[in-house]
Amino acid sequence: MARRDLIDIDRIFHEAAVADYPRGREVFSRFPNAERIEVPSHWNIPALHGNEGSVEDWLHIKRSTLVLGVKKGLSMRPNGRSAHFIAPSTSNGCAMACAYCYVPRRKGFSNPISLFVNVDAVGAAITRHAAKQGSLPEPDQIDEAAWVYDLGENGDLSVDAMICDNVRDLVALFRGLPNAKGSFATKAVNRDLLAYDPQGRTRIRFSLMPARIARVVDVRTAPMPERIAAIDDFLAAGYEVHVNFSPVILYEGWEADWAALFDEIDGTISQAAKAQLKCEIIMLTHNAGLHDVNLGWHPKAEDLLWRPDIQEAKRSEGGGDNLRYRTGWKGKWLTRFKALLAERMPYCRVRYAF
Ligand code: SF4
Repeated sequence: MARRDLIDIDRIFHEAAVADYPRGREVFSRFPNAERIEVPSHWNIPALHGNEGSVEDWLHIKRSTLVLGVKKGLSMRPNGRSAHFIAPSTSNGCAMACAYCYVPRRKGFSNPISLFVNVDAVGAAITRHAAKQGSLPEPDQIDEAAWVYDLGENGDLSVDAMICDNVRDLVALFRGLPNAKGSFATKAVNRDLLAYDPQGRTRIRFSLMPARIARVVDVRTAPMPERIAAIDDFLAAGYEVHVNFSPVILYEGWEADWAALFDEIDGTISQAAKAQLKCEIIMLTHNAGLHDVNLGWHPKAEDLLWRPDIQEAKRSEGGGDNLRYRTGWKGKWLTRFKALLAERMPYCRVRYAF
């Protein structure tokens, strides 16, 4: 998707304080013709959030609207899976529209990108936190030697970087932290990031799944061959490059599709990329509320995502019914998935599978 099709900002909702920050002023001057609408909080914008019934509106909103705010809470949250800690986010919301995405569950379905302009404060909080940790006591499944901070829990940093320099600043920050690495997963390929000079201290995780399934559920994201082709370029530019096999969606024929994907990756990436490659495997978690919304705009995706015959409901932490593949079965499928991966890409170590 051309950059302009993904993002073409003509309206900016912003908190009043945004103009006090250099990053806020930079974004304003980058979109001089955008209408500016002051709001009390980036969290609650009735004109924007909600809107479940009208997909035409919310895809348009994702492309044309930006929200700017100041991040208030700057605490780190322990993680233990993708990263040791989840850093305070510098953004929330996304210009893409994956049918299984959990991000809109909190903000409603037309959640466009919200960027936080106090990235300096986020960086200072990470620096203080990392300084207190000392060295990683021993290698673990997350990293051999560094504390890893996830930077992109609530959005996609590759796309955020099309709008402002928050991601550039974070990559620069981790260059200077001796005991910590930044990390984020992405479904977009933004080649501007190749110039950020991460010096091995930022890990980018390209999310991959069989292309014919991605064409249904990964709405507005980069095509799979483009993501795979980017792996070597990002490695050469100084990133550590891992992959997320996520979400793994089960359907008749999934093994053949995943085998083909593994072969495609194996046939595309270099020996150098293979030598450092690790992956996460994340089986689909769906959600009953999201299912209802998706039926209204994208029922084909629900044919893949909504499988009550093989899923079971679990009350999620934030309330609402999450659906996971049935306990017992899920373990068996995961074992088959890992065996297939080991057969086709034996060099790819699994950091965690869930
Ligand atoms: S790219 Fe990530 S944050 Fe954006 S819609 Fe897809 S899953 Fe959600």
